[in-house]
Amino acid sequence: MRTTTQILVIGGGPAGSTAAGLLAKEGFEVTLLERDHFPRYHIGESLLPSCRPILERLGVWDKIAAAGFQPKGGAYYFWGPEEWEVRFRPHGRDGSTSAWQVIRADFDKILLDHAREVGVDVTEGVAVKKLDFDGDRPVAAHWAEAKNPANSGRIEFDYLVDASGRGGVMATKYLKNRKFHNVFRNVAAWSYWKDAKQLDRGPSGAITVASVGDGWFWGIPLPDGTMSVGLVTGKDSFNAARNELGGVDPLYHKAIGDCPAIQQLLIEAEQVTEVKVEQDYSYAAEQFQGPGYLLAGDAACFLDPLLSTGVHLGTYSALIGTAAISSVIRGEIGETEAWDFYEVVYRRAYERLLVLVSTFYESYRGKEHHFFRAQQLSEKDWDGMDVQAAFDRFVTGIADLEDTEEVYRRIQGHLLGDESGKHNPLDNLNRVHEHKQAPEKPEKAINGLYLSYEPQIGIRRA
Ligand code: FAD
Repeated sequence: MRTTTQILVIGGGPAGSTAAGLLAKEGFEVTLLERDHFPRYHIGESLLPSCRPILERLGVWDKIAAAGFQPKGGAYYFWGPEEWEVRFRPHGRDGSTSAWQVIRADFDKILLDHAREVGVDVTEGVAVKKLDFDGDRPVAAHWAEAKNPANSGRIEFDYLVDASGRGGVMATKYLKNRKFHNVFRNVAAWSYWKDAKQLDRGPSGAITVASVGDGWFWGIPLPDGTMSVGLVTGKDSFNAARNELGGVDPLYHKAIGDCPAIQQLLIEAEQVTEVKVEQDYSYAAEQFQGPGYLLAGDAACFLDPLLSTGVHLGTYSALIGTAAISSVIRGEIGETEAWDFYEVVYRRAYERLLVLVSTFYESYRGKEHHFFRAQQLSEKDWDGMDVQAAFDRFVTGIADLEDTEEVYRRIQGHLLGDESGKHNPLDNLNRVHEHKQAPEKPEKAINGLYLSYEPQIGIRRA
């Protein structure tokens, strides 16, 4: 194991391995420490098309395309009394599928192995236990082998990318700046089913999203023939129902029985795993950066499973982070300016999706249900975030999705494709926005800076 490195990346999930791989391809010395041995289980199986251009740039897309994952044509919603679909545009040089339903253990391993192949020094089974600081700047990490903690060491670095996921080494241990979302206080409970039916409508390989009572279900067809079926509901109603029904299993099965759209998919199916539960996953760090370090992916923020945005935000932050670190090391821009760019761009992407998720919840017509009423942003709901400002920034992005600043044009423009369903989920959002003043022309840059790929990934002056 090295004792010094130019860039240390903590965590080998999609955020960490994408950042590490991109940075190595830019010619830097990168070390990645991952606590687990891959393949390892992870939730988060439904990807967005926005990942594709990033994974192409990383050079791993062909491996993903050859891995036999389930092509995802979009999403199909049974949302209150309405049904609609979101159909992803084919994308990329060959116009082939732009998104996948993946088994994360396999997907994450492909990304991590690829990072190794492009020159990252990857060690698995090793956890970062402690960081040393010079003032506010982290300068070294103490690691220990997960299975044999006596095998330990220290590594010094110039720059740190914390991609340690929900564990969030920097945010939870040192900065203590992670704020949990008061609105999306949700619990997810899911398991896997074999012999589930394919949905008989909507884009092929779509994720099914179906509202039920106080919550909603996802149904994700996976490449191994199973279906991931998850219930998301409010924490209070989850706890009350669990107590009343005598456990998570009866709660989960009762909710399936109450949701005809999901029930019909599972009519001849067999549940093949236990029900897993996660909660407290909607949060954001107050700052996504500081001297010498960036937080990427879940280590920085996660909002809600509703729009399947986690891997998108992970790989997107990895891309912007690569641009920031690369330009700083090459002396093209100062650290403060680069880090500000990272903060603004990343937070804006996050807040935009936060508002979009909230709007989806608001558009649910069965407003008698507490869950959907509760999932609405208001200024006082969000500790530390100016929702109105976020809303306005979001308007800029969504209204000009196809013709916005350079940084979004290539990436975010592919987030949602043509809507050919009965109902356009963005109509609701646009209606709300009609009364807002639109900017005269789209911003071309942020604080006079933009992301560029030519000749290398970096931040350039407009
Ligand atoms: P992770 O994938 O969690 O990777 C972090 C890595 O860091 C881990 O491998 C961990 O072992 C390692 N690590 C942690 N601490 C240390 C340490 N101290 N030292 C070394 N290594 C360390 N996203 C989607 O895109 N689509 C979905 O359909 C979707 N569904 C979801 C459903 C639920 C219920 C939840 C909770 C999330 C869902 N997500 C989904 C979100 C998605 O799972 C995450 O956003 C995504 O995995 C984030 O990637 P990451 O690389 O930031 O973190």
